[in-house]
Parts: sequence; C-alpha cells; structure tokens
Amino acid sequence: MADHEPIAGRRVAFFGGSFDPPHTGHMAIARAARKALALDTILFAPVGAQPLKPLGSTASFEDRMAMTELATSDEPGMLVSRVDAPRPDGAPNYTIDTLRSVRTCIAADAELFCLIGADSMHGFRHWYRAAEIPFAASLIVASRPGENLENLVSLLPGGIRLETGEVTSQGSGDSALFTYTIVNPSGATASCYVLPGLHVDVSASQIRASKLNGTGSESFLLPKVAEYISEHHLYAEKE
Ligand code: ATP
Repeated sequence: MADHEPIAGRRVAFFGGSFDPPHTGHMAIARAARKALALDTILFAPVGAQPLKPLGSTASFEDRMAMTELATSDEPGMLVSRVDAPRPDGAPNYTIDTLRSVRTCIAADAELFCLIGADSMHGFRHWYRAAEIPFAASLIVASRPGENLENLVSLLPGGIRLETGEVTSQGSGDSALFTYTIVNPSGATASCYVLPGLHVDVSASQIRASKLNGTGSESFLLPKVAEYISEHHLYAEKE
C-alpha cells in the first residue's frame, strides 16, 4: 500500500524492520501477535534508514518491499506499507515519527500497537524519543532465542515504571501473552504486551551469510522470497 493511504481495522500493529530478507521468524511473531491480541491488521514496513544500523541494508529498499509483499501475500490481515520509506533528505527513519504518520491513517478510535522482537527491546532505551513510543502505540514484544525478557522494566526508558500487581497472563505456547501496565512520569498509563512463547532461531544476517557460505539458514526463507532472491541474485558475493 502507498504512503498515507487509510488503513482499515480497529486494532492495527506497526511492524517495522529491515526485512533484509523477511523470514519465518518475522512471520511467526506477526501471526502470534495477530492471534494473541486479535489484531485486524499488521502493517509490515521495511525501513529506509534504520538509525541504529549505520551500515544500512544489503538489499535495496525496493527489493525489500518486493520480498515483504511476497512473504505476506497469502497471510490474512497483513499489509506492506511504504510509510517508513527512505526520506528525501536522507535522514534516518525514527519510529516515533513513523508511528505518528500511521496514526493519521487509522480511524480516530482505532488502537495502535508496535510489534518488536526481544533483541530490539534490549536496545529500545537508545531509540530516538524512546519514552514516548509506548504511549504512541502499545508495545508488543516477542521473545527471541537468547534474549532474556524477564526483567522488562529494566529495558524500558528511564522514568517509565511498571504498575505493581498489574501483570496478567493468558494463553499458552505461541499464543501465551503477558500484559503489563506501564506509567510515565506524568502519570499516563499504557499497556505493554509480551509474547513469551516464540523461539524461531533465525536472523536475516544468518540468512545473508548462508547465501555466501551455505550454512543452512536458507531453510528459514519462505519459498516465494527464496525464488525472488535467486532471480534477482541478491546476497550473492560480488564478483
Ligand atoms: P538482521 O539479522 O539483519 O539484524 P533481523 O532478522 O533481526 O535482521 P529485522 O528485519 O531487523 O530482522 O527485524 C525486524 C523486527 O523483527 C525486529 O523487531 C526484530 O527483533 C524482530 N525479529 C526478527 N527476527 C526475529 C525472530 N527470529 N524472533 C523474534 N523476533 C524477530
């Protein structure tokens, strides 16, 4: 979908990332979040320039868009958006700004979420205007192998605390969900969700490396994405 097009649904999650390439780990957390939180729409948004990845992406933005379209094409309730496309001035794409753009595209009474993996949560305190993000969109944090989420509050930006006694859990397996209430220094509250049952041990970096040295991570690619990568000779060693 184009930038700034209206987004249908009352419960919409923004899912930003490099998607360089998209893989089964991304799809697993999106499916689990959709089910656990009864989301209408998950908006996959390949990022133009990730502020914390100064070396940038390997595949172009357009190739990452195309691969993400292919990854989500058969998935109900999943859309791909250009809302986080490279900025004309070349500046990094900050999540807080992107969430504010997404907010203008959903119904006034719709609920906005922001889906991230546990490794992103570990760096979250360093994101631009991080303390505002959980109040602009409720965070959904998915577990990832090797990334401990037990002490969630220590990962939140300074000043944000957990409302004691307000952790609720429901479901089991990959639909297990913990709900926390967090509070900022002005007393505003927001829900923050953790999906603790996701254990898909793959990263896009491993897949890119596997294209060069055949370590087997390519099995985490979706068939249509694998086909696109072969046809466009992506991630192969430059001659
Ligand atoms: P790279 O290895 O290039 O850093 P990545 O596999 O981490 O890439 P991104 O596109 O950067 O993928 O990730 C987008 C979002 O998806 C991030 O919030 C990340 O934490 C989450 N994510 C990616 N892979 C997984 C996974 N296997 N399990 C849980 N979350 C994941």
